Amino acid sequence: MTDSNPDSTAVETQDARPSNFLRDQIAEDVRSHRYGDAIVQTRFPPEPNGYLHIGHAKAICLDFGLSQEFGGKTNLRFDDTNPQKEEQEYVDSIQQDVRWLGFQWDRLCYASDYFPQLYDWALQLIKSGNAYVDDLSADQIRQHRGSLTEPGTDSPYRTRSVEENLDLFQRMKAGEFPDGARVLRAKIDMASPNLNMRDPVMYRILHATHHRTGDTWCIYPMYDYAHGQSDSIERVTHSMCTLEFTDHQPLYKWFIQQLGIFPSQQIEFDRLNITYTMLSKRKLLQLVQENRVSGWDDPRMPTLSGLRRRGFTPEAIRTFVAAAGVSRTNGVTDIEMLEHFQRDDLNRHSRRAMAVLNPLKLVIDNYPADQVEHVEVANNPEDPSAGTRSVPFSREIYIDHDDFREVPPPKYYRLSPGKEVRLRNAYFVTAHSIVKDPAGNITQVHCTYDPLSRGGNSPDGRKVKSTMHWVSAPHAISAEIRIYDKLFSKPNPSDLEEDSHGNPIGDVLDNLNPNSLEVLTSAKLEPSLAQAAPGDHFQFERVGYFCVDKDSTEIRKIFNRTLPLKDSWAKIEKKSSA
Ligand code: ATP
Ligand code: MG
Repeated sequence: MTDSNPDSTAVETQDARPSNFLRDQIAEDVRSHRYGDAIVQTRFPPEPNGYLHIGHAKAICLDFGLSQEFGGKTNLRFDDTNPQKEEQEYVDSIQQDVRWLGFQWDRLCYASDYFPQLYDWALQLIKSGNAYVDDLSADQIRQHRGSLTEPGTDSPYRTRSVEENLDLFQRMKAGEFPDGARVLRAKIDMASPNLNMRDPVMYRILHATHHRTGDTWCIYPMYDYAHGQSDSIERVTHSMCTLEFTDHQPLYKWFIQQLGIFPSQQIEFDRLNITYTMLSKRKLLQLVQENRVSGWDDPRMPTLSGLRRRGFTPEAIRTFVAAAGVSRTNGVTDIEMLEHFQRDDLNRHSRRAMAVLNPLKLVIDNYPADQVEHVEVANNPEDPSAGTRSVPFSREIYIDHDDFREVPPPKYYRLSPGKEVRLRNAYFVTAHSIVKDPAGNITQVHCTYDPLSRGGNSPDGRKVKSTMHWVSAPHAISAEIRIYDKLFSKPNPSDLEEDSHGNPIGDVLDNLNPNSLEVLTSAKLEPSLAQAAPGDHFQFERVGYFCVDKDSTEIRKIFNRTLPLKDSWAKIEKKSSA
């Protein structure tokens, strides 16, 4: 793992849970009765403008996990202030994903439910001389804003009377003006070193249909005007969010103070970033819209729906997020760490099965043609309670093309002419001859078996160097296997070449891995997999972890490779501790 969290506190508390500044702050507030006898109240506040990704999983685990620890409650609140980008589809998927991750909210809330209250508060701020209607265009407002080194300049409309402001704002709401004609701004300080305090826009005119309020409103509150007050309305005690909101906190406090409402406390933590992974909803939307992926739930996507379809589990994601920790500095976590926790979980919980991805027929010449035996094999050696199943064995079986070489390279211990190997749980076989097609491709291998080695051991104590998986040919079911690799080919997907002026060349999507999906159409699986249902997880022995895709039908099974068996993370860990 990249050591990216220099500030993270890893002090072990008495209950052996590593402490962090969020937990410490909440514990301190509970101890000091900062909110009287009020329970710890948190919320997870997504904007319904895309599907949740694994970065959101971190926020969800913190929001729900910490309130649970302190006997508190967590709301799911949609910060739905932007009708142009928000949709019911996103609202539904977000709820599904939060539940899937293992959490249940107390109240389901929408910032749009607070539109009447937010409007009344805007009137209140106008009346107290703290807000004004501005006729400048968006461009002019930007020009007046100044920069980090230069103060802003006051709008000529800043000194409007309360009466005029009230009149104009009410007429904005009544629909008298076109989009963009006017805005309502907070009257704070155009010279503030914090740009967010330079008279930020509170309301804009937008004649758009909202996914919940329909055409009731033609003015919409800005996110920064709605977010803090929504927390306050829900009496959120600890409002946790990512570091980019640190500079917005003074503004949220200003609104709350001017209005004299419940003082929610905002605490910021680092965003989760993962190597080879894009965690920006805007960019993920672009991937979907440009058909670079099959949808939000494409198994290569870092969305929770994509990860679920790929075969990732909520347990592993929660363990990973906890292990990645929280900090006050943004860093990057290696994707191998996520994969490590996922393999660990699947190793313990997934049923084993035999599957041949690139089949090569192996004919056992001395095995009776009409004989079928059934071998009893463990469903999961890690979990005896998973039981056993019986797997048919017959004269013609499939092995993987990779497991046979006509001319074996040095240290190749699998099957080759004259070599003896073990067929897992079955017999020893020795290869003798091969059959090729006119193009020279090997189409069949002929071998003999040792009937005394039934179960996979020879009574004379003979050793073989390799054990191979197999599937009985007449019993096999055919399947499609989708092999996924990283969606981006660079550790930092946003890493772009620069021209001589230091400007980036091209687009993040130029860093897409062209080989992120490989489809194998002729895989052969053991017959027990005919019963597998979408979402079921398996370890295909010697190959990797797989899960049944939702496109699967009774007739045609489709499996997604969740991860190959190889655990590069364990290797990295070994290397670094050596
Ligand atoms: P994006 O930048 O991808 O559009 P966002 O922050 O705008 O994401 P929201 O719907 O506003 O998306 O996010 C809901 C909550 O999830 C916020 O509190 C936000 O701080 C948190 N969050 C978003 N991305 C991450 C991340 N990568 N790591 C941790 N928390 C995140
Ligand atoms: Mg956001």
